[in-house]
Amino acid sequence: MWPYATSSDAVVDALRLSRGMSYKNAMAELPFGGGKAVIIGDSREKTRQWMEAFGRLVDSLGGRYITAEDVGTTTTDMEQVARVTRFVSGLARESARGADAAMPAGGDPGPKTALGVFLGLKAAVRFRLGRSSLEGLKVAVQGLGGVGYPLCRQLAAEGASLLVADSRPGMAQRVCGELGAREVPADAILSQDVDVLAPCALGAVLDSRSIPTVRARVVAGAANNQLARDQDGEALMRAGILYAPDYVINAGGIISVGHEYRGGATAAQVRSEIEKIPVRLTEIFERARREGRPTSAIADQMAIDRLAATGLRPLQRASARN
Ligand code: NAD
Repeated sequence: MWPYATSSDAVVDALRLSRGMSYKNAMAELPFGGGKAVIIGDSREKTRQWMEAFGRLVDSLGGRYITAEDVGTTTTDMEQVARVTRFVSGLARESARGADAAMPAGGDPGPKTALGVFLGLKAAVRFRLGRSSLEGLKVAVQGLGGVGYPLCRQLAAEGASLLVADSRPGMAQRVCGELGAREVPADAILSQDVDVLAPCALGAVLDSRSIPTVRARVVAGAANNQLARDQDGEALMRAGILYAPDYVINAGGIISVGHEYRGGATAAQVRSEIEKIPVRLTEIFERARREGRPTSAIADQMAIDRLAATGLRPLQRASARN
């Protein structure tokens, strides 16, 4: 849910996000295609009636699309959606049912996405910087919401020093107070002198204007569609920056809600699926180095090949939002 300026912006974002979901599910070996819903609106103004209206629309698709929470929506919103459709996952009651209190199966996907990003970020640091520990490394985190905040907690616990920014007032202060992070202005977070940049806000942050200013040697974060255009993957490679393809590193949440939707998975099974993310990323990094191609292009190729093997036809790429 986002206050898109025009409905055309919303449609372009929905197409880019749904393509990303197709690739994400293919790479995570989940038995789903890919789709995404966007709601035009300010999440601070949402009501139960809005969520139920959205749920009725999802229901009208008869199961061809299954929804879950993401930017601007919460487990409580999905509970309201679930009043009118069964084609929804990421429900609060599922997490309450989980056997493992620290990492319950199902429920809010944010912490599971954060776990996958954390493990993937460590794999990227190992590959690019040759370091097995985050101790003393500087990490800049853009966006401190459902994924960025739990990611910061894990990074701080491993000894990383954090530079953080969020455009919402008060979000950064919480992380600074709890984790000893340093706040930087939101418009300066991408260009900090750090080892790792973790974009965990919105998409299309890496483009021809921002990439020349990035000083990190690793980009590994949760945001969907971080690259504004295909050629931005090439630009990152030429700048000597290792990019962890977004839909590979941020699959922890869909792994969790996918298992929740199908039922029967334990927290331990979900965790072991999430632990495959760094393995997959390392395979992409190695292949990119061997072939001298951007990691984003290698991941796209792998996802398209997997989709082709299922007989599904991948969507053409929609142009960037900005
Ligand atoms: P969220 O809405 O909870 O948090 C996003 C945060 O980013 C908000 O606090 C917002 O104020 C901040 N933000 C927005 N623009 C900013 C900017 N320019 N500079 C600094 N901060 C900014 O969303 P989330 O669930 O944490 O998701 C974050 C990103 O990860 C999104 O791109 C989302 O699509 C992606 N993602 C999320 C999940 C998940 O499980 N929630 C899974 C996969 C991918």
